[in-house]
Amino acid sequence: MPRGRFSTGWPLALALLLTILGGAARAEADPLRVVATFSILGDLAAQVGGDRVAVTTLVKPDADAHGYAPAPSDAKTLAAADLVVVNGLGLEGWIDRLIRASGTKAPVVVASKGIKPIEEADDHGHGHAHDHHTDPHAWQSIANAKVYVANIRDGLVKRDPAHAAEYETRAKAYLADLDALEAEVRATIAKIPPARRRIITTHDAFGYFTAAYGLTFIAPQGVSTDSEASPRDVARIVRQIRAEKIPAVFLETIADPRLMEQIARESGAAVGGKVYSDALSGPTGPAPTYVMMMRNNLAAFAKALGSN
Ligand SMILES: [Zn+2]
Repeated sequence: MPRGRFSTGWPLALALLLTILGGAARAEADPLRVVATFSILGDLAAQVGGDRVAVTTLVKPDADAHGYAPAPSDAKTLAAADLVVVNGLGLEGWIDRLIRASGTKAPVVVASKGIKPIEEADDHGHGHAHDHHTDPHAWQSIANAKVYVANIRDGLVKRDPAHAAEYETRAKAYLADLDALEAEVRATIAKIPPARRRIITTHDAFGYFTAAYGLTFIAPQGVSTDSEASPRDVARIVRQIRAEKIPAVFLETIADPRLMEQIARESGAAVGGKVYSDALSGPTGPAPTYVMMMRNNLAAFAKALGSN
């Protein structure tokens, strides 16, 4: 603001200017109301938006976005939104109806727009070639998370062009953090003996991580937590763990731990601790941000797989 141009010799002009600035300052203090469908997107939006945004997430930390049942309050939250951020790729099967029901006029950013989706054949059905699921867990590749950040940045800039420079500056700094994180992931996995780079998790949430970084994940459930693992699936996994000497099974924080505990018991694999696949922890947990989530998971994998 060119405040210095107005000298005290212009009391009326100054008073007028202060009035205008005062009005602008009140508008300034009003952050953009951003609603994200789940906690990981909420953090990415908060990283890019900083003080300019007030982020609400519909699916809370430690909760499962796949089979979420929206509450009436979620429609109210959406109705008051300035911008909505969704994952897409079929993660939030409930969101289109909820957006329609809410009557919100807010633009919707599809964070995964532009990523290359992983399609998975449905081997839990009867092997029909047309039974494909799109794997929605694209954020497990940091390169994809960078696409999410760019989409969120562009959505914020379009919705609130007056603060474009702030969004661009914050996004640039955060994208650099993500580059550093990705280098850390690659360096840590390079230290794990190749024969031990195999892990069992509750549901197929790490397909993009596998494709990007080369750990192999095997899961008794499909790509959605909606599908139950059958006793046949469990028996198959137990046989596979024994035959391939898979070192560790991991519990996902959003899933029922009993299945993995049963698999660990029957196969003799170690339970390698908790990993965060589809949700952050609460603010006092070990994974309150995307970067901390990825670091927490990486440390858990490295600890369980690193030594023979
Ligand atoms: Zn999932």
